[in-house]
Order: sequence, then structure tokens, then C-alpha cells
Amino acid sequence: MTELEKDCLFCKIIRGEIPSYTVFENDDVKAFLDISQVTKGHTLIIPKKHLVNFFDYSQEDAARFLQYIPVVAQAIKESDPTIKGLNVEVNNGEIAGQVVMHSHIHLIPRRSENDPIS
Ligand code: IMP
Repeated sequence: MTELEKDCLFCKIIRGEIPSYTVFENDDVKAFLDISQVTKGHTLIIPKKHLVNFFDYSQEDAARFLQYIPVVAQAIKESDPTIKGLNVEVNNGEIAGQVVMHSHIHLIPRRSENDPIS
């Protein structure tokens, strides 16, 4: 394990050193509830490989990890009949609002036009 992986918040979640509520998990990715729920069910999908953000992805990484976005989106929608849509958001780089430097994709359920915006 690299020093980066040892100290990384989301690597710690993958290793179970920090608790999380898992929505979906396999050998490639983990999806878990965001600690600050913009709306109920706000979920993060992360690759288990420590990639900082999309600038770090090879084409193979993209094919391997990003295929799970629709899988998790579907699972979230099916878990709650009040969900009418989802925002799929990525803050890619500090200047774009990325705070945790382990690649993650936000899935934010939308039930009404009055839902808070992220
Ligand atoms: P970013 O701004 O796109 O980097 O988003 C990072 C996200 O990680 C934020 O929405 C945080 O609420 C979320 N977050 C930070 N720490 C934890 C945690 O321990 N568990 C789950 N989500 C977290």
C-alpha cells in the first residue's frame, strides 16, 4: 500500500477502517451514502483503485469503473418510488470543488423541484 492510499479517506472507507453505509459493492467499485446528504439517498461511487480524479484515468480505468454509474443509479431509483430523477455530478480538481482527492461520482436523488441544489 502506498503512503497516499494509507492516508486517503476513501481508501480507509474501502478497507473498512471508517464506517460507511454501502449501497453497492463489487471487486471494482464501492457505492456508499455521502455523509452530508444533499437529498436523501445521496450516494458516492468510487473506484477501489486509488485514482485522484478523471485526469488520472486511463481508457481502461474509465471502461472498468464508469460502467457502474447506471447500475447504481438504477439501484437507487428502484429503492425508493418517490425518486423521479438523479443528478450525476463530478467535481474534478480542487478548482472545480473537489475536496476528497480520491475519484468519486455523486448521485443525488431528485424528488421535487424544491429539492436543495448541491
Ligand atoms: P467533493 O467535494 O466532490 O470532493 O465531495 C466529497 C464528498 O465526500 C462530500 O460530499 C462529503 O460530504 C463526502 N464525505 C466526506 N467524508 C465522508 C465520509 O466519511 N463518509 C461519506 N462521505 C464523506
